[in-house]
Amino acid sequence: MEEITQIAALRKVLDSRRASGATIGLVPTMGYLHEGHISLMARARSECDVVVATIFVNPLQFGPSEDLSSYPRDLERDRQLAVGAGVDFLFVPEVTEMYPQAVVTTVSVSGVSEEMEGATRPTHFSGVATVVAKILNIVGATRAYFGEKDFQQLAVVKRMVSDLSFPVEVVGCETIREPDGLALSSRNAYLSEIERQSATVLKRALDTGAKAIASGERNGNAIRQLMSDVVAKEPLVSLDYAQVANPDTLEAVHDLSPYGGQNVRLLIAAQVGKPRLLDNISAAVPLSEPHLYTADSLKTDGSPPSSFSSGGD
Ligand code: AMP
Repeated sequence: MEEITQIAALRKVLDSRRASGATIGLVPTMGYLHEGHISLMARARSECDVVVATIFVNPLQFGPSEDLSSYPRDLERDRQLAVGAGVDFLFVPEVTEMYPQAVVTTVSVSGVSEEMEGATRPTHFSGVATVVAKILNIVGATRAYFGEKDFQQLAVVKRMVSDLSFPVEVVGCETIREPDGLALSSRNAYLSEIERQSATVLKRALDTGAKAIASGERNGNAIRQLMSDVVAKEPLVSLDYAQVANPDTLEAVHDLSPYGGQNVRLLIAAQVGKPRLLDNISAAVPLSEPHLYTADSLKTDGSPPSSFSSGGD
């Protein structure tokens, strides 16, 4: 693996690889790598001739009161993990290399970036879109790999790439979780042991929402309320939002009936001690009204609800 800090040097090596017909896979990260990042690199490795990973804690996407200066960093460990994942080029630019002068040109993606994370962090997604646009222009990737863990970010990047005709395929990759369901995140490092236990409530709330939908619930507000109620039982967790959204536009879904046979996305964000944690899952909406939804259908042992019927006649 070669580590590169200069834009011009990275362009030069990649130009020569592209000239010989190589496909280039890109994995942008902010470092402090974990198995979620590694899964993206492994996917890029299996699908592309050359794998480029970037580590850049992008100041543009942090709000004034956010954790830019304390964001966890461990470049030596990241190097070893990137080598193990088969990365060919690790791009680790300084802030002055990426932004040598005041940034006056930014990319903003309206609509999809406005709710949820965008409502809480108003400048976040323009920071993300701007740095991703810049990295795509530097790398000239054939495919760029992003985690579904940051589902709204993935939707913003897909929309930007489509609207601005970036010549790249955006590949969304499934969320890697701890055995107890907690989605891996660099920010989990901030959690105390007891907060770490409490943080599992995010996935439990999402599962509760999905189970209600599978049981026939079609009212978006009722599903949001169910997820909120699960989170409210954890005193160390303060809910920001629990949402049922269209998986493409991320617009809130109020009536799930038109989604029969399709999926909606359940998304959640909460403060757990210092970090704000995010999670989301896909939930399949049954085609027919299978049976009436009851509280009993929320049993967590996987057994069918007692009210279950085949939904026929
Ligand atoms: P970050 O370093 O947090 O900016 O994340 C870099 C990339 O890794 C983004 O595309 C994230 O969505 C992705 N990622 C982060 N956590 C996970 C996870 N648990 N599973 C899969 N991908 C992830």
